[in-house]
Amino acid sequence: MPVAVRPILFLFCVLLLTSCTHADPRPSAARVLPVTAEDCARMRAAQVIQDDNPVPCERLRRVNFDYVDFEGTTGTGNVVVLDVVATQTAGIFADLKTHGFPLGKARLMEYYKGDDQAAMRDNNTSAFNGRPITGGGDWSKHAYGVAIDINPVQNPYLAFDDEGHATILPPDSAKTFVNRSETRAGKAPRSGMAELVLDIFARHGFLIWGGDWNFPVDYQHFEIGSRTYINDLLQKTPEVARDNFDRYAQRYRDCTAQSSETDPAKKRATCAAQVQR
Ligand SMILES: [Zn+2]
Repeated sequence: MPVAVRPILFLFCVLLLTSCTHADPRPSAARVLPVTAEDCARMRAAQVIQDDNPVPCERLRRVNFDYVDFEGTTGTGNVVVLDVVATQTAGIFADLKTHGFPLGKARLMEYYKGDDQAAMRDNNTSAFNGRPITGGGDWSKHAYGVAIDINPVQNPYLAFDDEGHATILPPDSAKTFVNRSETRAGKAPRSGMAELVLDIFARHGFLIWGGDWNFPVDYQHFEIGSRTYINDLLQKTPEVARDNFDRYAQRYRDCTAQSSETDPAKKRATCAAQVQR
């Protein structure tokens, strides 16, 4: 070997050894973090959680994750969820990043003082918010930390009155994203629409999608299951409930793995309906 090559080869060996003996320095794309007493105080001050919220602040966790925005830039986002579903939620956001699914932004609801409509107008992806159902008196599933809204501008909320007049939130979506067709003559393809990631949410136990409803139609909204199932989980210890929820998500995965249905949309709908509680 020529003498001049030896230092290069040595350097190559050192680099190889370094890369082999150190763990992958890249952090995972999504992490579960505690919601501290200070976080809870801030949420109370911003009216994101009330004293009579159906789950106490101590049961909440923050999921911190990397995402790709609509310009292709990587950002860091946060959502708050119930401890029981935090690991699966981290899995959702890691999978969205892996699949290159863009998110507008994901700021904590304190930033909007808990104002859901302000967050929607800002195209913010979020989860926990201690508020009633939009247009109703009962607690929203968001107040339990078991519902996630993604890209509200690309995935609007639609309600209709008895005369057939529609309310579309956020208003910017009305002329751009009420039409849900994916492939349109003379129109460029669009990204960030929930239809593309229904299976990712379902694989992590968020089996109910608001886009399946007749009224309201809530394209941005995912939740885990019925109030009966949520209350069932809340009666168990967090550890037992997490195990139960993980098995719930696994049942959906098993269903899709065993299904002979070749249309992915039909497979998702059939397995979600079969497994959801
Ligand atoms: Zn929602």
